Amino acid sequence: MTRVEATALPSTALPIVVAVDGPAGSGKSSVSKAVAHRLGFAFLDTGAAYRALAWFVVERRLDPADAHAVIDALPDFDFRIGTDPDKHQVFVGEHDVSVAIREPEISAVVSAVARVPEVREFLTALFRRMVATTARAGIVVEGRDITTVVAPDAPVRILLTAAEEVRMARRSAELTSHSAAVVGEQLRSRDRADSRVVDFMNAADGVITVDSTDLDFEQTVDAVIDVVREAHA
Ligand code: C5P
Repeated sequence: MTRVEATALPSTALPIVVAVDGPAGSGKSSVSKAVAHRLGFAFLDTGAAYRALAWFVVERRLDPADAHAVIDALPDFDFRIGTDPDKHQVFVGEHDVSVAIREPEISAVVSAVARVPEVREFLTALFRRMVATTARAGIVVEGRDITTVVAPDAPVRILLTAAEEVRMARRSAELTSHSAAVVGEQLRSRDRADSRVVDFMNAADGVITVDSTDLDFEQTVDAVIDVVREAHA
């Protein structure tokens, strides 16, 4: 197995942006984090930001489907997300919400919050600032619209996919307390809702597809690192 360390990549003045999009359960979060770790890059999980906002909306007892209420809450959304792949934490105010935002209750409402254009503009601006100010040689940014909206000019743009049944099996293995059928239906309905807002199932022009259906975790990480290396060969 090939291992590429940070020193294997030529250093450049600007951070190298590796943009990774993909559907729920494609493994993009854990794969992107491992890629960032191996390359010595920062890691930005944009889904965690949308989830933190959904958590905040629920905590305030607002209706996530009420776009006006969500927009009105944005100025009070005091939120911090770490970019160290080895110590990934998300805070809303004083609350460490790193675990809470992964709960199925948040997964069930996050799409409603994410479809509001003002929310997307607000978070996209924040993500771009974080990318521009990273102290590391590069940053792996993962989400749904990174290759198309957040960083369409990134030198490395990847769509990480996997067959639906494989994505469901991976997700239900993560959420052992929930039945495979429930997990599968949640994942399908979230993808359906999200894909009305952004197309993350088809690679945009210039975006390289990495299909992890027949790859294990390490092989997927290697495949993504190969794409990064080729872009900088
Ligand atoms: O990646 P993750 O499954 O944690 O994303 C949670 C949700 O955040 C998605 O279902 C989607 O609604 C939203 N999202 C988005 N755009 C992104 C990242 C996530 O709309 N770039």
